[in-house]
Amino acid sequence: MKVKTRFAPSPTGNLHIGSIRTALYSWLFAKKHNGEFILRIEDTDVERSQKYSIDSILNGLKWLGLNWDKGPYFQTKRLNRYKKVIAIMLKKGDAYKCVCSHKKLEKEREEQIRKGIKPRYSGTCRNLNFSSVLNHDYVIRFKNPVSGKVKFNDQIRGEIVFENRELDDLIIQRSNGMPTYNFCVVIDDLDMNITHVIRGEDHINNTPRQINIFKSLGAKIPIYAHLSMILDEVGNKISKRKNAQNIMEYQKNGFLPEALLNYIVRLGWSYGNQEIFSISDMKKLFDLTSMSKSASIINIKKLLWINKYYISNLSLKKITDILRNYMKEENVDIKNSPNLEFLVKSLRNRFYTIQEMATSFRCFYEEFKIFCNSETKKYLVLSNCSILEKSYKKIKKLSIWNSSIISNMIDHLSIETNIQKIKINMILRVAVVGVVHSPSISLMIYLLGQKQVLLRIQKTLDCIKKLNLKK
Ligand code: GLU
Repeated sequence: MKVKTRFAPSPTGNLHIGSIRTALYSWLFAKKHNGEFILRIEDTDVERSQKYSIDSILNGLKWLGLNWDKGPYFQTKRLNRYKKVIAIMLKKGDAYKCVCSHKKLEKEREEQIRKGIKPRYSGTCRNLNFSSVLNHDYVIRFKNPVSGKVKFNDQIRGEIVFENRELDDLIIQRSNGMPTYNFCVVIDDLDMNITHVIRGEDHINNTPRQINIFKSLGAKIPIYAHLSMILDEVGNKISKRKNAQNIMEYQKNGFLPEALLNYIVRLGWSYGNQEIFSISDMKKLFDLTSMSKSASIINIKKLLWINKYYISNLSLKKITDILRNYMKEENVDIKNSPNLEFLVKSLRNRFYTIQEMATSFRCFYEEFKIFCNSETKKYLVLSNCSILEKSYKKIKKLSIWNSSIISNMIDHLSIETNIQKIKINMILRVAVVGVVHSPSISLMIYLLGQKQVLLRIQKTLDCIKKLNLKK
């Protein structure tokens, strides 16, 4: 039998790390078994479903390369199918109309809580057999078995058992005529021949209800795997409506899809002590039996470490292309030299994110300004002019251009002037790059090119003189 998995988000918030993990595991499981991965948007809660959320789901999955084989299916487009099944269930007596008012149900509930009983629908309408309830608002409920147990073998947690007497007669159609989540899920999983349902542990309580509906329809029940929770860095459960960052924010912040997927796959799954997994490793090695039953905690430092790894190790062309687009978005014109791929090759193993890289590379392309801020200001003083003038002359004379020659030149300057190399480096860094932190200054000078460096030193000298004239 062909393995079929699905990712079935409700579009009621941002697609976040937790939902991506569910999608990733379902996708990997299908890929590993040469199966099919289906995308289904569970949008029957029309009041809470949002267009931005659907976009976030589609864009996020596309960005990460989690391509679906079928779909996206929208539940709101399948309403006729649900209605047909409900009509059959009503006819067979597996479902019934319930006219209990909200007020009555509320009262019932309060009473049960007061008596210390777990609140559940008492079943007033279960045997009343309304054929016509035209004058009433009604919901349709599933006739859950009153005795016996529902058992299922969760692929992560082992056997899970529920007593039927603990389960309510679930509402499968609301009074506005809309079928509910627990019902649509069953019909969809059935119609789409889903073999494995991989989803968050917050759905464990829904599973026995869904299994009972499957049974009443005489259908084959899928295999279930419920994933443990993901907590944010301070230990709160991540929630799409509260503290979860939209996955596309990670792109904006300069993370690579490969790094994010690698990071996410390890949130609840392991393969020995291995930390780095390419997509093809994941497809080969992923397996539902090596899953953790305890919650995983987001660790941004680890994500940064993995991102740095991929920035250093993915193909040069790929990183350069991503960086080029990123800089374009930030309106940095990279048409002027130096060659971006060359910069990436020389410097990429220093950066944790593409954003950091883009910020650092601005100085190569932007019209040089003196960043006269509190940090750089102390280097823009007349006493530093002589060292800058000497550097200018020496740099101008260099006929071979590489970073070790430049570094030697600074060594000589340090001996000649009796000024520490570290100090010369800082003066040159402010003059040439305009900041106090940068990769090695000889490398930066080399990458910027002789002409540009001379121009910048000259501008700095002019600026120092102007600043000091004003005093
Ligand atoms: N729509 C549900 C959610 O977003 C998931 C349903 C399922 O996977 O069965 O939580």
